[in-house]
Amino acid sequence: MFAQIEEYFRLEKMPHIWCPGCGHGIILGAMVRAIKELGYDQDKTVVVSGIGCSSRASGYLDFNTLHTTHGRALAFATGIKLARPELNIFVVMGDGDCTAIGGNHFIHAARRNIDLNAIIFNNNIYGMTGGQYSPTTPYDKKATTAPYGTIERSFDLVELAKASGATFVGRATAYHTKLLTQLIVQGAKNKGFSVIEAISQCPTSYGRRNKMGDPVEMIKWQKEHAVNVKAAKNMTEEQLAGKFKIGVLHQSEAPEYTAMYDEIIARAQQKVKK
Ligand code: SF4
Ligand code: MG
Repeated sequence: MFAQIEEYFRLEKMPHIWCPGCGHGIILGAMVRAIKELGYDQDKTVVVSGIGCSSRASGYLDFNTLHTTHGRALAFATGIKLARPELNIFVVMGDGDCTAIGGNHFIHAARRNIDLNAIIFNNNIYGMTGGQYSPTTPYDKKATTAPYGTIERSFDLVELAKASGATFVGRATAYHTKLLTQLIVQGAKNKGFSVIEAISQCPTSYGRRNKMGDPVEMIKWQKEHAVNVKAAKNMTEEQLAGKFKIGVLHQSEAPEYTAMYDEIIARAQQKVKK
């Protein structure tokens, strides 16, 4: 299986740093399969990441890659897209990186509808720094910074993306890898800001503290709690209680930012000529 996508990796950077049983490698595999399916030229593809376990992904990939600063992956990606709108840009972020430190950049990238593909590896925790709770840690779950359980309500990334103006929003898990690949393909084809939430398991910093069992148990949890949006249509609220939806969860039309930016440049140049 790996042999089919090996050409997209910098093998000299292996072994990777991820813990055994971490979901991030599965999600990265789904993303690379999507890029292969899209047929994108490696030299015309950019992967930008922030800081955290998931953001190490960019270093392992043989595209144009940028491992940036905490929370700023979307700011870097915005600059690249404005300078070189023809490039295909994937922005890899963790839940804390994207919605706490980078929350501001996230909502404004969505509001602008800039043609970027945000792939959020959501493991509900700051894994790399030892398990602090993040904006997606569910209420009452334990973290190093919440030893008696969190008292904050968590963000629903899909709702946050929708409300901020993203024009394609989907969700899958490390268990639903084929769906994840499909969603990334669909998101990449959307001319605008696409958000794919990829639910991952962090056995080391989240599962262990919250007694979620070994990585196999954690991935079974994903299987048992995810409901495809098509199936959810025929389910009652009681049946959906405690579950989350996966699939294409939002699509809308809006002008794309770099296209509008080009128009404004053309308008300004016309004025100068007159
Ligand atoms: Fe994965 Fe968690 Fe280990 Fe980070 S700490 S590599 S998210 S299992
Ligand atoms: Mg995280």
